[in-house]
Amino acid sequence: MPRNRSGCSVLQSAIDIKRWQQQPPTVVEARPARCPACGTASCPLGGAIRLQGHGKRERQVWGPSGPNHAPEVISIIARRYRCLSCSAVLLVVPRGVLGRRVYSAAAIGFALALWGLALATAAEVRRRVSPAKILGDSAVTGWATLRRWARDVAQRGLFADAPDPGPSASLRQSAATAAARLAASADPTTRALPLEQRAFFGAAHVT
Ligand SMILES: [Zn+2]
Repeated sequence: MPRNRSGCSVLQSAIDIKRWQQQPPTVVEARPARCPACGTASCPLGGAIRLQGHGKRERQVWGPSGPNHAPEVISIIARRYRCLSCSAVLLVVPRGVLGRRVYSAAAIGFALALWGLALATAAEVRRRVSPAKILGDSAVTGWATLRRWARDVAQRGLFADAPDPGPSASLRQSAATAAARLAASADPTTRALPLEQRAFFGAAHVT
């Protein structure tokens, strides 16, 4: 179970980012069916609720909302629940939001595909994916965030379903392997789109 920085378990809802933002789910709509920590049913038949609403948390999500959109920063309201059986605290976020990362899964998949498959430069990837206006020192030689994502992929800490690129793979090859897997997992209706766009849509469904 992925956890965020404050140690809370993070759970993706079936609701995607766009719908969540337009119509934030109520405490009832976003409540998970069961506690991911102990398996207790959240609303046992005829019994009292076991996963109680435990407030809301505002969260930023970075990246473009579509492959042809400008990068942006949006805010979503994540919902917290507390399990009365095991005291676990859960944070429920939209599908496509990853526990420890400020960028959306779609933005990261898109970046890996632009760099690994479309062979865009790191600066170009940054221009298309990052809403950050102030460039740090790393912008001169590349984009540290992009290399970190590729390293996380190689170490199986991100998009762990991707095939292992092997110990001798470069960061860019690791990015390409993961991006190809994401593109292949996208809905068949995206088949005519360029690979990097398919990677965007494939990554949006990753939990
Ligand atoms: Zn529990």
